[in-house]
Amino acid sequence: MRNSRVFARALGGQDMVVEDVSIEVETSRAKTPVSSEVLVFSVRPKASQTSRCSRCRRRCPGYDGGESSRRWRTLDVGATKAYLQAAAPRVQCSEHGVVVAHVPWARAGARHTWAFEDTCAWLAAHTALSVLTVLLRIAWRTVAAIVTRVVADGRDTNDLLVGLTRIGIDEISYRKGHRYLTVIVDHTTGRLVWAREGRNQDTLGAFFDQLGTQRAAQLSHVSCDGAEWIHAVVRARAPQALICLDPFHVVAWTLKALDKVRARTMTKAGVRDRHAMWATRKNPADLTGEQRSSLAAIADTNRALYRAYLLKEQLREVFRVKGRAGHQLLAGWLSWASHSRIPEFVALARTIRRYRDLIANTLDHGLSNALSEATNTHLRALTKRAYGFHSPDALIAMALLTRGGLCPSLPGRAA
Ligand SMILES: [Zn+2]
Repeated sequence: MRNSRVFARALGGQDMVVEDVSIEVETSRAKTPVSSEVLVFSVRPKASQTSRCSRCRRRCPGYDGGESSRRWRTLDVGATKAYLQAAAPRVQCSEHGVVVAHVPWARAGARHTWAFEDTCAWLAAHTALSVLTVLLRIAWRTVAAIVTRVVADGRDTNDLLVGLTRIGIDEISYRKGHRYLTVIVDHTTGRLVWAREGRNQDTLGAFFDQLGTQRAAQLSHVSCDGAEWIHAVVRARAPQALICLDPFHVVAWTLKALDKVRARTMTKAGVRDRHAMWATRKNPADLTGEQRSSLAAIADTNRALYRAYLLKEQLREVFRVKGRAGHQLLAGWLSWASHSRIPEFVALARTIRRYRDLIANTLDHGLSNALSEATNTHLRALTKRAYGFHSPDALIAMALLTRGGLCPSLPGRAA
């Protein structure tokens, strides 16, 4: 009896009674099967947890014994793989019909325990997936299924759309730009609050449907890129919100123009300099010695590229200083770029003039771009790193886990 309580404690389940433990031999289903010994704990829920619906946890009458017994993978005991095994009776819930009875150690429908799933989700948010799969001895697709379930569970209990006033709307490409996610970031908390596959008016409409008219009326600022479909939906669903052009995108346009000038002028002059790209793209303070030399050489020999570089830096400065000074700098920049005789920047100046009102909103209201940029960078990295997450649902779950504050704490530890 005392042993059983020790085991229950070690397995992390307060509402569980351990009746027996045995050692079994398990053979892996890999190409070259490996046999190893595993621990199997026969358990049952404490009386207070029996005969409950696994969906709503309400007490309800029993229906039948269900399948004979079920197993759940749980955290290793020492270095040995461990399973819980229990009967799986079914109950008749007045709301959910005939369902498997609730068990206190696992989420409904899961093949792994809470402790295992929360550990897996925590690791997915904090370490490389390749490390996780080795440590927990599970496949990529299992990680994806677990993360999706943990996040769905967190979304049921945390309404991420509460109290939104300043949001950022963005599109993230994945699978080499063939598919897109529309994502919503809360500028106040820096958290990702919503994401869905697709990038069109319907996708964004689904966000506003979920937000509801009352909460949409509380939105004061919406930052986004130059996509007209975003502007149209925001004007229709939250007409009071000021649309601000996200500086992140303006700087990205500028970098693109700069890259074109670099490629064009260097090809024409027959110059090869592998440091030139980062020398011109990066903040001056972050340059390495080699990049500094490269920039100095460009200043001496490639006047057009150097002017393009200075234009890029001044546009960054516009968003750094913001407010009145930002407006003045921007006016100066537009005139300089329009007369620069650099075709790429003449075109950029035209684009920026077209969005001048939205850029003015950004300068006046100074939405903290750093947060949405960090989220954006993180998501882009995630779409590359999590290539094993083939379904967009799993990718979104992964994004909400890492950037939406839905990561569970490690079992047995305070958050
Ligand atoms: Zn129910």
